Amino acid sequence: MTQLAERTTAETEAGSQLGRVSHWIGGRAVEGTSGRSGPVYDPATGRQTKTVDFASTDEMAEAVRVADEAFPGWRATSLSKRTEIMFRIRNLVEQHRTEIAGFLTAEHGKVTSDALGEVARGLENLEFACGVPHLMKGSYSEQASGGVDVYQLRQPLGVVAGITPFNFPAMVPMWMFANAIATGNTFILKPSEKDPSASIFLAQLLAEAGVPEGVFNVVHGDKVAVDAILEDRRIKAVSFVGSTPVARYIYETGTRNGKRVQALGGAKNHMIVLPDADIEMAADAAVSAAYGSAGERCMAISVVVAVGDVADPLVAAIKERLPKIKVGPGDDPESQMGPLVTREHRDKVASYLDKGSQQGADLVADGREHSLYGNGSGDGGFYLGVSLLDRVTPEMDSYCNEIFGPVLEVMRVGTYGEAVKLVNDNPYGNGTAIFTRDGGAAHAFQFEVQAGMVGINVPIPVPVAYYSFGGWKDSLFGDLNMYGPEGVQFYTRAKVITSRWPDPGTSGVDLGFPRTR
Ligand code: NAD
Repeated sequence: MTQLAERTTAETEAGSQLGRVSHWIGGRAVEGTSGRSGPVYDPATGRQTKTVDFASTDEMAEAVRVADEAFPGWRATSLSKRTEIMFRIRNLVEQHRTEIAGFLTAEHGKVTSDALGEVARGLENLEFACGVPHLMKGSYSEQASGGVDVYQLRQPLGVVAGITPFNFPAMVPMWMFANAIATGNTFILKPSEKDPSASIFLAQLLAEAGVPEGVFNVVHGDKVAVDAILEDRRIKAVSFVGSTPVARYIYETGTRNGKRVQALGGAKNHMIVLPDADIEMAADAAVSAAYGSAGERCMAISVVVAVGDVADPLVAAIKERLPKIKVGPGDDPESQMGPLVTREHRDKVASYLDKGSQQGADLVADGREHSLYGNGSGDGGFYLGVSLLDRVTPEMDSYCNEIFGPVLEVMRVGTYGEAVKLVNDNPYGNGTAIFTRDGGAAHAFQFEVQAGMVGINVPIPVPVAYYSFGGWKDSLFGDLNMYGPEGVQFYTRAKVITSRWPDPGTSGVDLGFPRTR
């Protein structure tokens, strides 16, 4: 199972040939034939380590054919057998968590502890899906009418697809495929082209666990592959996680083509700190939630909204913590924050620092002053140190856009009402949090805030796997949230059966409208 890692590392070290990441179709690795590919970098060194094949429309169609062919057999496989396989997948992922984390660090750049955390949260989705016999239970009403029973089943949809972002190359696929295959669908994963190796390793583990050929497929690529998914009528549902413009496009195109779509988009997550909050605790939470994973988390805190006179001491407490954050390569156990995913992304994030100060914000900490910054322009990594912008206002570019990097913004408002209005007026509504000791304020916040996931003295309120994950407003297009009970609902559809086993003694012709009473 370590072959993939060993091969690509050896090739890279030899410098003669880059590792190649190919597709996984029908239970085996399949080299791309389109002639198109993309680069994969080690963000800690800035060097290209691999190339990833980009699928053509025909290659995607072949994967759909294979998945479509596998569907009848897989949906007919007993619940008990599917459960056994889900348990095996769960155990193999847990057994190989260090290797999976290694791929995440090597291609995304996140530090090892964070990568292991990602795998652990993904694992919880596999554990939830191990309960599929219970999750698939229907309902039964006896004697709905004389001698008539009515019952509801949930059945899988067929071939379903998942399109995933760069920032969680293992967890987000697990958010999707765990419930999708446990409920009897066959699955095509189109991972982010920036960090594609973890998905192939997962595919190998699924095969080892006994997932039949064609049930789980990985097809790499760019917009061509995504459009092929959206256009193919054999694909019944699409789950997407990524940026808002692409999420909107996926939702509109997918639904127009008759698919069920859940498309999760970007975020701007606010953390309100009330004057009565414990400042040290709020500062610890803000720093952890803003800079963890270099701010490349859809639930990262990107804006602290300081209410009243809490602002000065809170900014001072945050500032005091910043120089202690150790930035470095993800595989260095000392590092707390790694590089950003690509040079382009790092430069885009850094551009908001100049824009912020030009538009009147205070640049309290400038990540470009970090000794590792700038190396990415030559042969170094894509680093940017932690940055803090204070006195940000709603019309500034840094506030109007999702930065998705290690930049925390502070906005100062006078009252709780102004703070909630800021959150509610923002086009995104993924996560939000309030820090206070006032139960009444926390309760009011939970009632009136316009966001899908709310933390009360919890900065990153990602729901556990037996709830479901989803934002409001421009953070989610679709009707059902991801994973958990709503994930099961998304990947299944209801069938209601009305049944009579006639008693020949009471049978007769009746042309009247069927009655229940
Ligand atoms: P992205 O939208 O650029 O890419 C996501 C996926 O869409 C990738 O597989 C990519 O290949 C594909 N894609 C990109 N451009 C496309 C296009 N024009 N047409 C069709 N497909 C396209 O997102 P990203 O940069 O990989 O990830 C970061 C974004 O994801 C951030 O906005 C972040 O907030 C968001 N995100 C959201 C959540 C959530 O749960 N709401 C979770 C993680 C990440």
